[in-house]
Amino acid sequence: MHELISPALRELQTVAQAVTDEVIAPNAARVDEEARWPRESMAALADANLMGLHVPTRLGGHGQGLLALALLSETIARGCSSSALCFGMHCVGSAVIASKATAFHEQQYLVPIAENKHLTTLALSESGTGSHFYLPQTRLSRDGDYFEVNGTKQFVTNGGHADSYVISTQVSGQATDAGDFSCLIVDRDRPGMSWLDAWHGLGMRGNSSRGLQLEQLRVPVANLLGEEGDQIWYVFEVVAPFFLTAMAGTYLGLAEAALQDAVTHLRRRVYQHSGQSLADVSLLQVRLAEMKLRVEKCRALLYQAAFRGDQGRADTALHLMMAKADAADTATWVTNEAMSLGGGQAYRENGPQGRRLRDARAGHVMSPTTDLLKTWIGRQLLDLPLL
Ligand SMILES: Cc1cc2nc3c(=O)[nH]c(=O)nc-3n(C[C@H](O)[C@H](O)[C@H](O)COP(=O)(O)OP(=O)(O)OC[C@H]3O[C@@H](n4cnc5c(N)ncnc54)[C@H](O)[C@@H]3O)c2cc1C
Repeated sequence: MHELISPALRELQTVAQAVTDEVIAPNAARVDEEARWPRESMAALADANLMGLHVPTRLGGHGQGLLALALLSETIARGCSSSALCFGMHCVGSAVIASKATAFHEQQYLVPIAENKHLTTLALSESGTGSHFYLPQTRLSRDGDYFEVNGTKQFVTNGGHADSYVISTQVSGQATDAGDFSCLIVDRDRPGMSWLDAWHGLGMRGNSSRGLQLEQLRVPVANLLGEEGDQIWYVFEVVAPFFLTAMAGTYLGLAEAALQDAVTHLRRRVYQHSGQSLADVSLLQVRLAEMKLRVEKCRALLYQAAFRGDQGRADTALHLMMAKADAADTATWVTNEAMSLGGGQAYRENGPQGRRLRDARAGHVMSPTTDLLKTWIGRQLLDLPLL
């Protein structure tokens, strides 16, 4: 696996690790407890020049692909999974902008992103279509040099904090196929945008995930990404690969942190009555080994899937779907094991193991959900269309 990672990428990972150790991990408990957006994490990632991960090098970015996103999401999530989610959604949004950027998009969005001055994010989900995130009901209609947009997005990560929002819409008055949408970039605070009440999750509490109402929102035509109705291309070529990678990396990092919690506890816990260390209990050694095996299998699945994507291999989608489904399974299973191995210490309110267990549960319900991914993987094996 090691040889897949270029020296430039290894350097980026080292920088991300330092930011995670110094700023992100120390703030994770407060971010969760106060359910607040991880401002310090995002500022530190910007100060470390990591926000332009997917911006082309000719525009000042790092020009990196899926493997970089996997590694950085994993690294950051070891310290704070909410921060990894916020960073990941910015990366997915910037990859979507970069994929068919016009000269205007480059100067207005990608250059400031590469300069670490602009945060973007992805706003696809809607309550009307739920996990079927590729079916927006938000309508887009042309009005001279503007589009008018009407609809409601839900669960917008970085909601209220991002400088721009990559939203999906469906073109008014056209019969649409399944998955038909166009993507638009909407600048923050435009008239017609209003934020709905904050959503308080069981876990991933620091991601500022909110509903966004779009009412007679006027967006310049220049803010359209690609061609009108470029839907399937965006979903399968950019949104899905980058989103699956960011999510898989995040849940993998979370599982690694939980495994480390368990190792630390078994090493430290020594009974007074017998002098026995939990590290010497063979059953617990075996359970630890099972956790490690799952983490390593998950990492191998993700790295090779992301590497395939960066090579432009045709079978990338299947591998990335497996990686995200497996990362959600691994994170929920490993955090649950870590909770058992950590005993009453781990079970205390607002402890790191509890936080990780709660955060891990979001892995299954975040789109594409585990059930949908497994359905699609099965359908692909049967040569059936995904949708
Ligand atoms: C912490 C968090 C952050 C998020 N951030 C973002 C974001 O930044 N941007 C964004 O666009 N969205 C975001 N989301 C939204 C996320 O993608 C949604 O949770 C997802 O769309 C699920 O929608 P829902 O709650 O309506 O579930 P529902 O659609 O009600 O689904 C409930 C369950 O039914 C299952 N199900 C539904 N249909 C089928 C089927 N045909 N076959 C099998 N099972 C099925 C699903 O798998 C799921 O388990 C976020 C969500 C969370 C929890």
